[in-house]
Amino acid sequence: MTRPEVPSGSLFGAANLPYGVYSVDGAAPRVATRYGDHVVDLALLLGDDVFAAPSLNPFLAQGHDRWVAVRAAIRDALEDDVPEAALHDHDAVTLHLPFEVADYVDFYASEHHAANLGRLFRPDAADPLQPNWKHLPVGYHGRSASIVVSGTDIVRPQGQRLPAAGARGGTPVPEFGPSQRLDLEAELGFVVGTGSAAGEPIPVADAERHLFGVVLFNDWSARDLQAWEYVPLGPMLGKSFASTVSPWVVPLPALDAARVATPVQDPPVLPYLAMPQPWGLDVEVEVVWNDEVVSRPPYAAMYWSPAQMLAHLTANGAPTRPGDLFASGTVSGPARTERGALIELTWDGADPLVLDGVPRTYLEDGDEVVLRATAPATDGGRLGLGEARGRILPAR
Ligand code: MN
Repeated sequence: MTRPEVPSGSLFGAANLPYGVYSVDGAAPRVATRYGDHVVDLALLLGDDVFAAPSLNPFLAQGHDRWVAVRAAIRDALEDDVPEAALHDHDAVTLHLPFEVADYVDFYASEHHAANLGRLFRPDAADPLQPNWKHLPVGYHGRSASIVVSGTDIVRPQGQRLPAAGARGGTPVPEFGPSQRLDLEAELGFVVGTGSAAGEPIPVADAERHLFGVVLFNDWSARDLQAWEYVPLGPMLGKSFASTVSPWVVPLPALDAARVATPVQDPPVLPYLAMPQPWGLDVEVEVVWNDEVVSRPPYAAMYWSPAQMLAHLTANGAPTRPGDLFASGTVSGPARTERGALIELTWDGADPLVLDGVPRTYLEDGDEVVLRATAPATDGGRLGLGEARGRILPAR
């Protein structure tokens, strides 16, 4: 038995306790928490076989009251001596996708991002936002099978795109080939714990009981494929090749000290989207491109809250399941240095970023992108959401 220590200033102290899935030495994956630089096997720590599973889903399905009880039990257990067999060095384990992704939706909840893309794609429009944007959280249903854990390489997608000449007028003649405008999108993802039956919408006030936790989310995007294919039904192959999530799911109660009001919603939302309590999250995201921080998007600036997104996506009676994931959409703040995608940061390539002395627009083969984030923790310090990392490999 041993008492695990946490280095002072760690982003993974007792106020965080995120959930993940690890394996060591080729053994079967199991559920763990991260505590300082330790990965702690929860089945061994708590003597509870629900954590001997290779994903969080069985635990998610047990529901909100169990999540609260287990979080308290983990805290208690870590204040005591812990079986040596439950403790692993963080650097010695392999981290896996923490949950089986059921359905996946991507929203578009940043006003700054939506307005920037409106200006880019519809420069002649009087309002950069579409008329629906402030009335509902716009989103689309994506592809859960292409969601991968941090560290997974990203193969450059191929697809139909218009050559530059075709995009400028005349008769559009598409070609097929590797994307030439491969982008990142810095987002947060929200994990649904307990689902809801068909025909039973989840009210905003009940979102708390259904939402389990938060991950970092990079929604890799092929802008050239997207620009050609999206009319009139929305994104498809330009988005569905891969999205990267962080390996640690930070449970919602860990973010209690990060709760803030969302920006004022004007015009007022319809009653089914009204929020009885503050539901914004003061999470500071960081976008790292080849080891240089190129942006710091503030999640607190997001117009639509996760509770509103969940209420909206079930408003028609659509059912949800444990492991459903919805992402926020690109997090962008008002400043240039707060934009969460290269299409905004470089104004679709017209205004390159200088990276290690070289002007750069979109992602090249070999580039690596890392998303990181921190937030205020309930102990007065800060907690970490870990990282979502991916390297671009050449098209096959
Ligand atoms: Mn997105």
